[in-house]
Amino acid sequence: MKISKRIGNVEASTIMELLTYSAEAKKSGKKVYHLNIGQPDIKTPQGFVDAIRNHKEEVLEYALSEGLPELIEVIQKYYKGYNIKFNKDEILIVNGGSEALLFAMLTICDEGDNIIVPEPFYSNYSSFANAVGVTIRPVTTYAENGFHLPKKEEILAKIDENTSAILLSNPGNPTGVVYTKEEIQMIAEIAKEKNLWVIADEVYREFVYEGEYTSFGNIEAAADRVIIVDSVSKRYSACGARIGSIASKNKTVMTELLKLCQARLSVPTLEQIGAVELYKTPSSYLKEVNEEYRERRDVLYNELIKVPGVVCKKPTGAFYIMAKLPVESADDFVKWLLKDFEMEGKTVMPCPAEGFYGTEGLGKDEIRLAYVLEKETLEDAARILKEGLNEYLKLNK
Ligand SMILES: *Cc1c(COP(=O)(O)O)cnc(C)c1O
Repeated sequence: MKISKRIGNVEASTIMELLTYSAEAKKSGKKVYHLNIGQPDIKTPQGFVDAIRNHKEEVLEYALSEGLPELIEVIQKYYKGYNIKFNKDEILIVNGGSEALLFAMLTICDEGDNIIVPEPFYSNYSSFANAVGVTIRPVTTYAENGFHLPKKEEILAKIDENTSAILLSNPGNPTGVVYTKEEIQMIAEIAKEKNLWVIADEVYREFVYEGEYTSFGNIEAAADRVIIVDSVSKRYSACGARIGSIASKNKTVMTELLKLCQARLSVPTLEQIGAVELYKTPSSYLKEVNEEYRERRDVLYNELIKVPGVVCKKPTGAFYIMAKLPVESADDFVKWLLKDFEMEGKTVMPCPAEGFYGTEGLGKDEIRLAYVLEKETLEDAARILKEGLNEYLKLNK
């Protein structure tokens, strides 16, 4: 029996080794603050479980493959609030943004194709790309300028006849970057010139703390080539619901995507019923959550930049900070934090950033911090991280 080459190319989550370190630290009695994962701690709006609890159905049937009509309708309304106009048949419900990404790649890429992705990028992009036999061509962005995009020529230089799409997350995970209107327009222009798709991963749309946000859904000129990936996971702190959507004004791509939706039959009915209520959550909820994250970002950022040698522009979106540290190996630093360091019986766990890069050798001295702890806890964690980094730098001078 054989195992496919495709799956052989998919890397197992690199977090596993570090998890044994954090398990050891906890066993020894240390408290570990997790800044390594993007699992929000905000309460899921109550309407989600209430709707599920109140749902009466004698037989739990398959839902429609394209998704529950009520859910598609509230998502359509939600987009309207951002002046993004989708018809009902231009939105499909999927099992999280993850399935949206996989389905998008399966639909628009052949084996041997490549897609352009600004790096550092969400590491599951490469898992899905590898699984479908697609190569990621990274366009490197840098901590020094807040991970903004390079000049148009540099992106154009990566494109060849096998390039099928540009994929980007905006606001960005892991960078926290929010691309400017000019950057979004530049990507749209490139896509038009080179006849490419744009896969716009906008699952953090509300997590913008300064400046304006431009969605690819607002770029009329590229409407026929944009595919929008969305999800309730981060927006409504409902990662376990596994509800996402994929939307495009391109009829052909929607028809083809629907075939995959039909093949996997449906998305869980109860979670869709809960998700309808999520999208009815008053917008004050999103404002409050936004304010909370902005304050957390400031707490963490302000401590982090007190350490000399740290390179980090204040990120303006998502809930991550990527920082370049004056260390040789961020991986070694994180292991040291877990194994050899403690302050008042506590330590912190950042995520080494190498796994977010497609280019070999990059990101070795960088970490990603997720500010998904409440403010007081985060203040403590930020102080411990700062002290830990200072001590590590002294030891490794
Ligand atoms: C979390 C995340 C997703 C997908 O999340 P789902 O839970 O599958 O909806 C997609 N893209 C980025 C950038 C993410 O951070």
